[in-house]
Amino acid sequence: MQKGSIRVQTENIFPIIKKFLYSDHEIFIRELVSNAVDASQKLKTLTSLGEVKGDIGNTDIHILIDKDKKTLTISDKGVGMTEEEVDKYINQVAFSGAEEFLEKYKGKNEANIIGHFGLGFYSSFMVSDKVEIITKSYKEDSKAVRWECDGSPEFSVEENDKENRGTDIVLYINEESAEFLEPERIRHMLEKFCKFLPVPIFFEDKQINNPTPAWTKKPADLTTQDYQDFYKELYPFSEAPLFWIHLNVDYPFNLTGILYFPKVKKSFEIQKDKIQLYSNQVYVTDEVKDIVPEFLMLLHGVIDSPDIPLNVSRSYLQGDPNVKKIGSYITKKVADKLEELFREDRKSFEEKWESLGLFVKYGMITDDKFLEKANKFNLFEDADGGKYYTLDEYKTAAESLQKNKEGKIVMLYTTDPVQQNSFIKAARQKEFVVVKLETIVDAAFINNMEMKWSDIQFVRVDADILENLIDKNESNESVLSKEEAEKLKDLFHVEIPDLHTTIEVKGLSPDSAPVIATRPEFMRRMKDMAMNGGGGMGSFYGNMPEEVTLTVNGNHPIYQNILKEENKDQQENLVKNLTDLALLSQGLLKGNELTTFINRSVEMMEGKPKTKIITEA
Ligand code: ADP
Ligand code: MG
Repeated sequence: MQKGSIRVQTENIFPIIKKFLYSDHEIFIRELVSNAVDASQKLKTLTSLGEVKGDIGNTDIHILIDKDKKTLTISDKGVGMTEEEVDKYINQVAFSGAEEFLEKYKGKNEANIIGHFGLGFYSSFMVSDKVEIITKSYKEDSKAVRWECDGSPEFSVEENDKENRGTDIVLYINEESAEFLEPERIRHMLEKFCKFLPVPIFFEDKQINNPTPAWTKKPADLTTQDYQDFYKELYPFSEAPLFWIHLNVDYPFNLTGILYFPKVKKSFEIQKDKIQLYSNQVYVTDEVKDIVPEFLMLLHGVIDSPDIPLNVSRSYLQGDPNVKKIGSYITKKVADKLEELFREDRKSFEEKWESLGLFVKYGMITDDKFLEKANKFNLFEDADGGKYYTLDEYKTAAESLQKNKEGKIVMLYTTDPVQQNSFIKAARQKEFVVVKLETIVDAAFINNMEMKWSDIQFVRVDADILENLIDKNESNESVLSKEEAEKLKDLFHVEIPDLHTTIEVKGLSPDSAPVIATRPEFMRRMKDMAMNGGGGMGSFYGNMPEEVTLTVNGNHPIYQNILKEENKDQQENLVKNLTDLALLSQGLLKGNELTTFINRSVEMMEGKPKTKIITEA
């Protein structure tokens, strides 16, 4: 037996390795199994080059737990190592790798580092009291060796009688790491890190990996079913995806993968962090934040790239030119795919819009390159549902009727077709097109697109009376004289706490409602932002009273009678009821005011004493 010291002058690094980032201890399995995979792949390469002759048999990898001996063994049938190679690769190269790693990251507690940067072979000491390597090289006449190290810098090497080619790494699991002798724990780790490694891996007589996952195959060789099956393999409990994109580039960087569009419900229950990042089929992470543009994180699937630097910290990753290119490549691919789907089967694209819309709009807000392409396929759904407009189509439909004073096209929208029903109906009567912008991203979408689309003004359908919103030359003559209009205006006054009302009398169409309550667009948006937790100006406006404009339609026939009414109390009751009806349609009548309205209405219907009905204090 030969003994040696891994390196004379160095301090003992094993205690440091052992303590290093406890939570990530499980990555040792990834490192050791990847080494076993590498050794098997090398053997196959050598065979194909003719350097290894004859039948190499299978190169399956086996993981074994021996509870009595408290060992975990990773066993491969790869190239193996000669004694010189053990000295070179384990005692020198791997050791200096581990040492360098610790040099770099000692004391830093950046939890993601170790997960991205393998400590390689020496990570085994995080969980072991002692590690053994029993290995026999593929080289003819080579003798098997057994290397052993107990966590001190001293190691020993001796000859061994292992007969078959390959390597067994035997970990004598330490007491704190007893969890790694539990089969369930190991299975779980193997499924996480090794699920798609390219060499068959067995644990407890069952193969745990799929060596040829869909993303490594050619799209032409895959059916719809294959893509869907692979999705199920990744996310066993998810609904089938809407569609997918197969990524495949080799220049200027290497990247393969499949991205799936998940089905999403209206609410923002989308799960980010569903994309898994691999490097040559080795699982690296599901935190792809710095690699994939944020809006694309709503997608699911797999990205595999050996070119993404994994051995560095986050801040470096953000500045990495390859990473930037990867981000814009994926963005382009996704935009192209959406455009293709839209062009080739618009109907099915529209059917998926509920799921796609959130994603597309989020992308348009956050990524100008994407916006440019998405303008072609972003859709606006009609308030009644079922009909969709692209931006250009909306412009064409609205061109003749819906322009404001500056000549911009007014895009009328509703955030709640049920609550804003009376306004939608009124707009439709005038043949205006109202679209639904009711999802959680829409408020931000509106604010952003208004800046980006110079020829569009977004106006919620209840923001003002339609006559004010849209610059139509046909204004109705008022049937009231100036004095009558003044008199009418004086009859209206609203005293509701936290409600700031402005009253105006206008001559609208006699068919329009007698009083219309509208909520000015700007104030309402600010209020909404405050409610959704938007800081800054939002919280400033959040404390301001609600703004409402009451437009009294002087041309409505009802005012002829009201103006003539001699019983002042009755006159006031009528005016109050009309006001309350308008406020009610905006959901602004609540509590005490609502009760008073109900009581007043009942009494008026009963034809009760025509006295003023007073709001309770
Ligand atoms: P890396 O894999 O990045 O080279 P490691 O510390 O994981 O670093 O491994 C160091 C070296 O030890 C490997 O490059 C390889 O030459 C050798 N090695 C480790 N495990 C095996 C194995 N199972 N079979 C053959 N060689 C191995
Ligand atoms: Mg390695």
